[in-house]
Amino acid sequence: MVDSDLNENQAARGMTIHERLDEIRARIRAAAKRCGRLEEDVRLVAVSKTRTVEEIQTLVDAGVVDFGENRMQEVDAKYGQFEPGQVCWHLIGHLQKNKAKRAVERCDWIHSVDTLALAQRIDRLASEEHKIQKVLVQVDLAGEATKSGLPESELSEVLEAIDDCGHVKVEGLMLLPPYLPEPNAVRPYFARLRELAEQARSERLLPSPYQLSMGMSHDFDVAIEEGATMVRVGTALFGPRPALAREPDAAAH
Ligand SMILES: *Cc1c(COP(=O)(O)O)cnc(C)c1O
Repeated sequence: MVDSDLNENQAARGMTIHERLDEIRARIRAAAKRCGRLEEDVRLVAVSKTRTVEEIQTLVDAGVVDFGENRMQEVDAKYGQFEPGQVCWHLIGHLQKNKAKRAVERCDWIHSVDTLALAQRIDRLASEEHKIQKVLVQVDLAGEATKSGLPESELSEVLEAIDDCGHVKVEGLMLLPPYLPEPNAVRPYFARLRELAEQARSERLLPSPYQLSMGMSHDFDVAIEEGATMVRVGTALFGPRPALAREPDAAAH
């Protein structure tokens, strides 16, 4: 049985959110164990786009801290509903220039930095906030014109330039690979992202250890085997998204 079948079955079986959370934690544990890694080294980012504050609260009560949204408007709507520090917000979708200020004010992590200009803007805003903003650089490995992400060929150069930004800390890389139904088919993309991160680390352009944000509901097991330190899981945790939900990276640029 492939993992995508598993997800569909979960929804069909009508599992509760607690049962799904337990199952995801078990999958994270098993994947980490298979490759000799520690479960604690993989952070579960619950992707809460289109979900209600109540659904998020259920997971907060169950010990989940990290939540990912792909639009700032949704962070804005949910942010104030939680105690300061209760939720660690991750922006995982494309960040428009005019939303960068609020992203810096509200998000602990920005996964989607994909131009030097955006990093420099975040740097200026973070300096005003007296904050060091943690970011990941999103890499586009498939050359998909419809998706955001920095082409692999520009990575070194951009990381080097961001190094001069005193208020931006690049913690690692992020990947949104093409959707392939068979999780194993995505493996080469995960492996390539890790290779790029290793290379950047050897050039002292990434810290050690670095973060790799990769893997979603149907392929996070494979991503962990290939070194993911952050997995972004939505439907496997909350159940199917409402039909109108925007899919990854469909947000307007
Ligand atoms: C929606 C989204 C996810 C989660 O997708 P699921 O398949 O629901 O787990 C992960 N990453 C990004 C960037 C997304 O927009």
